[in-house]
Amino acid sequence: MSGTDDALYERLTAFVGRSAASAGTGKDPVNLPMIRHWCEAMGDAHPAYGGPDAVAPPTMLQAWTMGGLSGHTARSSAYEELFALLDGAGYTSVVATDCEQEYLRPLRPGDEIGFDTVIESVSERKTTKLGTGHFVTTRTDVRAGGELAGTHRFRILKYAPAARPDRKPEPRRPRPVVNRDNAGFWEGVAGHRLLIQRCGACEELRFPWLPGCNACGSREWDTVEASGEGTVYSYVVMHHPSFPAFDPPYAVGLIELAEGVRIISNVVGVPYDKVRIGMPVRLEFLRVDEELELPVFRAGGED
Ligand SMILES: [Zn+2]
Repeated sequence: MSGTDDALYERLTAFVGRSAASAGTGKDPVNLPMIRHWCEAMGDAHPAYGGPDAVAPPTMLQAWTMGGLSGHTARSSAYEELFALLDGAGYTSVVATDCEQEYLRPLRPGDEIGFDTVIESVSERKTTKLGTGHFVTTRTDVRAGGELAGTHRFRILKYAPAARPDRKPEPRRPRPVVNRDNAGFWEGVAGHRLLIQRCGACEELRFPWLPGCNACGSREWDTVEASGEGTVYSYVVMHHPSFPAFDPPYAVGLIELAEGVRIISNVVGVPYDKVRIGMPVRLEFLRVDEELELPVFRAGGED
């Protein structure tokens, strides 16, 4: 350890034995509804946790001391000060590493819970796969009716993240699923033609590609090539969730082709917030990467 690390470690160890929470009380007494929810979530059907003589599952120990979203008033400032010191030294990330519990007596519905938490130990500087930092262990003594019912040790690693060995490659647009039913469409795209299926029996046009006609059921078909003219029939602007290779916000348009069928595609040549229903658009082919080309629709072709 360098001199600076020694000095930091000395300051960290000064927190050992200090209180992180004192004279805390459980927000609810031990109760059957919480026990039942826990057992359902865990899939634990043990008969000891139900009925008139029910006890709480021992592993629920921490549940009775949790502060919920509004927190606890019993918290002392020592734990925050310790975190601030570690943050200031560059150990800005945190991960929970393990927890250890001891059960001294069963908890029963009606038990009022009290607890104290102490900072039990701070490790020397350790290097893990995640990065270098210090382990901090707190111990919570849980009491029921003034009697020690169990202890809960909780250990975290406060660390400086290790540098990533190399950056991930740029995410790529998802590949289309090409199968026997739609291979002809993608062959058309490769030749810069947008092909619409036409029923061999009733001549109904259909898009996207399907093995049979929705109007008459015939499986005979040929294709017609779209002229490329269309209008925005509808659209959405995607803000969330973000998806690799896409950069929100962006507009996804439902384009009605001059032939009457509709296709979902991107509208290009206009900002996402300027796309409008009824806007005339024209087909073009966008080379996305070395493998993928997609039909897209350009707005504002007249100017
Ligand atoms: Zn048909």
